[in-house]
Amino acid sequence: MTADLHSHTHYSDGILSPEEVVRLASERGVPILSITDHDTMEGIPAAIEAGKKLGIRVIPGVELTAHFHEQEVHILGYFADDGRWKEGEFQKLLRSSKKVRLERCKKMVIRLQEAGLKIGFEDVMKLGAKGSLGRPHVARALLAAGQIQTFDEAFIRFLSRGKPAWVDKARVASEEAIRLIHGARGLAILAHPGLLKGERIPAELLDQGLDGIEVYHTRHDSRLSSRYLRWAGEHHILSTGGSDCHGNAGDDATLGNTRIEGPLLENFLRRLG
Ligand code: AMP
Ligand code: FE
Ligand code: FE
Ligand code: ZN
Repeated sequence: MTADLHSHTHYSDGILSPEEVVRLASERGVPILSITDHDTMEGIPAAIEAGKKLGIRVIPGVELTAHFHEQEVHILGYFADDGRWKEGEFQKLLRSSKKVRLERCKKMVIRLQEAGLKIGFEDVMKLGAKGSLGRPHVARALLAAGQIQTFDEAFIRFLSRGKPAWVDKARVASEEAIRLIHGARGLAILAHPGLLKGERIPAELLDQGLDGIEVYHTRHDSRLSSRYLRWAGEHHILSTGGSDCHGNAGDDATLGNTRIEGPLLENFLRRLG
């Protein structure tokens, strides 16, 4: 058995629908898959349904935008497939995050208009942005409206920090993210520590109740993964891994390119319940 525990759908910044991600898992021989959209679980029910038809186990997941002191950290939440994740305080966070992201998106569009670009908020909505809106949706709308030539140009000229249409994002404190995930009986895992400043894991997250770290990730090389695997072992926490597939063609982060198996996967599934 192998599992890819990190993927995105068009409910956040991915390209594919939940059904398409599950079909891709089936085509690529990934029997266990987690969908971990940014700050939303709206894609989970459809993915589970599709998984039942194709014989793929879909683990309900989420990637929460959090902060540890000044630094943005992403906390993955994984839940048992018993529907309990749909209840409680944790869902309140997701609902509020959706609203805040929508308002942020409107602000970005207004700033773009002030910068002279011809784009309306309806252009962003028209492109089928569903759950969790972000800068990629604005970038796609700018591209579709012919206001820029490439997707990246949106970030380089307008959407990155310090650029004219930059609007900062809401982040929940890591401690709160972990608490809310635990409240929904989930496991809280630090996503891609290799993307953090100095590739360093804030050890204080362990005191906050972190259950594990994402040891294997598309953007971790083998040296980094070995280091994280050792670290997780020393601290007796879970080691997970996943591709972080967003469905982009030609991307290294293709579904199933990063997986876990064997004892790491068994431990994870046992703790998941
Ligand atoms: P947001 O959560 O709205 O701030 O958007 C973050 C997402 O935007 C990331 O997950 C990436 O998918 C995308 N992104 C961020 N920076 C860039 C960039 N410089 N070029 C292309 N995509 C980017
Ligand atoms: Fe993303
Ligand atoms: Fe992330
Ligand atoms: Zn991700």
